[in-house]
Amino acid sequence: MKTLATFAACALVITSAHAESILLRPAAVFDGQEMHAGWSVLVTDDKIAAAGANVSAPAGARTIELAGQTLMPGMIEGHSHMFLHPYNETSWNDQIVQESIALRTARATVHARKTLEAGFTTARDLGSEGAGYADVGLKQAIDSGIIPGPRLLIATLALVATGSYGPKLSTDVSVPQGAQEASGVEEVTRLTREQIGKGADIVKVYADYRWGSGESSRPTFSQEELNAIVQTARSAGRPTIAHATTPEGMRRATEAGVETIEHGDDGTPEVFRLMKQKGVALCPTVAAGDAISRYRGWKKGVDPEPPRIAAKRASVKAAREAGVTFAMGGDSGVFAHGENALEMELLVREHGFTAVDVLRQATSGNAAIFHLSDRGAIRPATLADLVAVQGDPTRDIAAVRDVRFVMKGGAIVRQP
Ligand SMILES: [Zn+2]
Repeated sequence: MKTLATFAACALVITSAHAESILLRPAAVFDGQEMHAGWSVLVTDDKIAAAGANVSAPAGARTIELAGQTLMPGMIEGHSHMFLHPYNETSWNDQIVQESIALRTARATVHARKTLEAGFTTARDLGSEGAGYADVGLKQAIDSGIIPGPRLLIATLALVATGSYGPKLSTDVSVPQGAQEASGVEEVTRLTREQIGKGADIVKVYADYRWGSGESSRPTFSQEELNAIVQTARSAGRPTIAHATTPEGMRRATEAGVETIEHGDDGTPEVFRLMKQKGVALCPTVAAGDAISRYRGWKKGVDPEPPRIAAKRASVKAAREAGVTFAMGGDSGVFAHGENALEMELLVREHGFTAVDVLRQATSGNAAIFHLSDRGAIRPATLADLVAVQGDPTRDIAAVRDVRFVMKGGAIVRQP
C-alpha cells in the first residue's frame, strides 16, 4: 500500500508540472460538429477552459500560434489492434504462432506512439489477437506516462465459439488461438466475467467466422450464448461489440444487444434496418478490406475493382440508406498504425460521405457511441485532447494526414 501511495504522489507532481494555461491560436476550430474561423482555445491543466472568437490569454499563459491550421478534438480510432502489424509484413497466422508476446508488446509500444502522433488521442483496441492480456499492461504503461500512446479502451482476449477461429494448422497440433474459445451459456458467462475482471473495458464477440480456412463466414455463437455475454457484460457496466459480416451473425448480435457491429460486409437492407431500429452502430472498417485486397495483388487504379470491394461499397450504401449510425474505425494493424486516416479518406473518396460527416464520426460521433462524454468536442470542461492539421480538413479530408500539433490531456505531444 505504501508503494501505491508514493506512486499516487508522484503522479500528482507530474500533473502539476504542466499546470499552466496555454492559448492556442489556429486559423479555425472544428469543434466536433462545425468549423469556426477565427476561434482560439484556452487550455488550463488537462482541460479546455474556453473556446471562441474572443478568448484571450490570462496573465502568464503561453500562446502557441497555429497559423493556417485547423484545431480539432483529438481523433478517436474506433477499431485498432495494437498487437498486430501489417499482414504484408507477416501473415496473421505467423504473427499469432511465431511471434512472442514480448516481441509483439515491443511492437505495440511503437504502434501506440505512432497512433498518438497521427492525432488519434483515443483508440478502441478490439482484441489482443493471441497476445493474451498484454493490452492491459500496454494501457497501464500509457496511463502512467511510461510510454506515449492514446487513451485506450481495450477488449483483452475477445470471445470466439470453440473451433471457429484460428490459426488452424494440422489437426494434431494445438496452437494458441487469436481469441478465447468458449461454448455454452455457462462458459461464455464465466469467461466474460474473467475478461472483465482482468481489465476488459469492452467485451468483443465474434458472432460469425470462417469455420474452415477458405470457406465463407457462418454464424458461430447461438442466440442464447450471445444474450448471456451481452447481459453479463451489461451488468458489469461494459458494452459488448461484435465482429459480424453475415446477415445472420449481425442479426443475432443485434438482437442480443451489442452496441456496435464491426465490418458488416454482407449486411442486407433488412439487417441494417434492424440495427437502426435497435440503435446499433456500424464500424465498417473499409480500410482493412482495401489493404487486404492490395496485399493479394490488386493494383489499385490499374486493375478492375475486386468483387469484395464492390460488395463492400454496396453494403455501406445499404447501411447509410437504412439510417444506421457509423463509427469511424479502420482495423489498423491490418495496415500500418499511424495510417489511421486511411479509413477517413476512403469513406470520403469511395463511399460518398462528406469530409464533415467523417470528421464528426472520428470525434463527437465516436465519443457518443463509445460513451466518452469527456472528449470528442472542443468546449469548456472537455479533456484537452487536441490536434491541429495544416489547411481545412472539411474541404479536403487528406488534411488530417498533415498533423502539426498534438496535445493529450493538456500535455504537448507534438508541435512545429
Ligand atoms: Zn479487427
